[in-house]
Amino acid sequence: MIIGVLALQGDFDAHRRRLEELGAEVVLVKKPEQLDQIDGLVIPGGESGAFLKILGEEGFQKLQEFVCQKPAFGTCAGAILLATEVTNPPQEGLGALDIRIRRNAYGRQIDSSIRIGMMQGTPMEMVFIRAPRIEHIGPNVEVLATEGNDPVVVRQGRAMAATFHPELSDDTRVHRAFLDLVESSK
Ligand code: GLN
Repeated sequence: MIIGVLALQGDFDAHRRRLEELGAEVVLVKKPEQLDQIDGLVIPGGESGAFLKILGEEGFQKLQEFVCQKPAFGTCAGAILLATEVTNPPQEGLGALDIRIRRNAYGRQIDSSIRIGMMQGTPMEMVFIRAPRIEHIGPNVEVLATEGNDPVVVRQGRAMAATFHPELSDDTRVHRAFLDLVESSK
């Protein structure tokens, strides 16, 4: 199983380490053609507007084709990229997840914080960094984890997203859920 980590910008190396720790073979994806060699893709945190700029129209299209066909997992900025609707300010999304997501949604004071949420009935440490908030989910979106009343890990078909940074905590369950998804989609 070969997992790509989009390595254009942001926090990609912590994802690489976590995925390798869980036994996956990882390639850092810097060129569109590398998407043809992988079974699943992680889109890391960073700055979603910067991702869009670096990708350009061609990179965006290629990525959109990939996420329609193969499993993808976006964290934070990556979650924003996978959404159908982005607000604050509005920006283009890949449309792989039927969610409305609001960028930088937690205001200044709790701009970045470590909070305890719940994943499938068990507490989980969650690191939020200038995090977005999922404000609305479509009927086919499954909630895998919550923090307070907010859905923070969601899945629809082959696409998965977390609004926090699971690669920065010791708990490996979110990455493991993605690897299971890739395995079952092969
Ligand atoms: N605030 C960033 C954005 O809007 C996301 C932050 C992150 O990925 N940690 O794209």
